[in-house]
Amino acid sequence: MNSPLWSNVVKTLNPYVPGEQPVGVGLVKLNTNENSYGPSPKVIAAIAGALNDTLRLYPDPTAYELRQTIATYYHLAPEQVFVGNGSDEVLAFVFQGLLAHGKPIVFPDISYSFYPVYCQLYGIEFKTIPLDEHLKIQAADYISPQLPPLGGIIFPNPNAPTGRVLPLDEIEAIIKAHPHTVVVIDEAYIDFGGDTAIPLIARYSNVLITQSLSKSRALAGLRVGLALGHPTLIEALVRIKDSFNSYPLDRLALAGAKAAFEDHEYFSATCAQIIHNRALLSQALNQRGFDILPSGANFVFATHKHHSGLGLYQGLRAHNVIVRHFNKPRISEYLRITIGTPAENAALLAALDALLIA
Ligand SMILES: *Cc1c(COP(=O)(O)O)cnc(C)c1O
Repeated sequence: MNSPLWSNVVKTLNPYVPGEQPVGVGLVKLNTNENSYGPSPKVIAAIAGALNDTLRLYPDPTAYELRQTIATYYHLAPEQVFVGNGSDEVLAFVFQGLLAHGKPIVFPDISYSFYPVYCQLYGIEFKTIPLDEHLKIQAADYISPQLPPLGGIIFPNPNAPTGRVLPLDEIEAIIKAHPHTVVVIDEAYIDFGGDTAIPLIARYSNVLITQSLSKSRALAGLRVGLALGHPTLIEALVRIKDSFNSYPLDRLALAGAKAAFEDHEYFSATCAQIIHNRALLSQALNQRGFDILPSGANFVFATHKHHSGLGLYQGLRAHNVIVRHFNKPRISEYLRITIGTPAENAALLAALDALLIA
């Protein structure tokens, strides 16, 4: 499909393809790393409380109260906090505002597949750095004198879709080696494992951390993401935002997100439950012939000794269980499986048992 009415940019785009959001019921949905437990009841109450006549008014363009709440939560200042309409929007602003310098940026060959899409959208050249044979990031590869002058570095920690965690001292070594380059740590899954790089903000003005309320705070449908870093980096994101949309977060999202950060008890209990379920599911998958990469996320990346990734994906789909399969070099034999509730995980295992016997 093509049209002369399209701009040249649109003609060249290869948009990101999000995981399937099936309509209808009866499917066990373990394909997009949503939280298997719902959001805090206090979040629901806060959104309900914001459902009133004030919806006729624009929301606070600076999202000050939410930024203040997040700043207090992480022992930062509000000037070190940016919020946007999901971390995907925050990342789009990061690529345009902090990574586009006419020099290539680098990220792992196996990583979040939105990064090359942003590069294409904003005309940013990129090079990928291969994960090692264990699908691990090797920090030395990001410090190598062989690298060309860089426009920036970005990787998720834990990485997606592998789930592997990079230790904080190795992250610090990368940041330290590139004092004049922004290093972005995409911490979409950090609450399920690994150490956050937030303490490094006080010591390095070139580190920017992005996080999401979609996974650990079970608010994928509300669309709230954030960036944390030196006020100069945050100011760049504010300048982009105010040249694009002054109000990326509506009144309901602002109220819900604030309540999510205020209910630490619910957050830590549900994260602990998912981490526990992850250990149980990993063990059960091991017993069925899967090799699982160590995961610090709310999913596992699993490959079977005797069955193909695509075959298992299709077989599970026929049993009404949806997982994610990437038809890509190096990882086509893997399934990315979101950690569900005990009932969802049991349904997955029952479907696998039927498939593996057949
Ligand atoms: C889910 C995810 C995001 C996007 O999260 P949203 O806040 O829902 O936009 C960003 N990065 C990675 C690595 C993710 O897995």
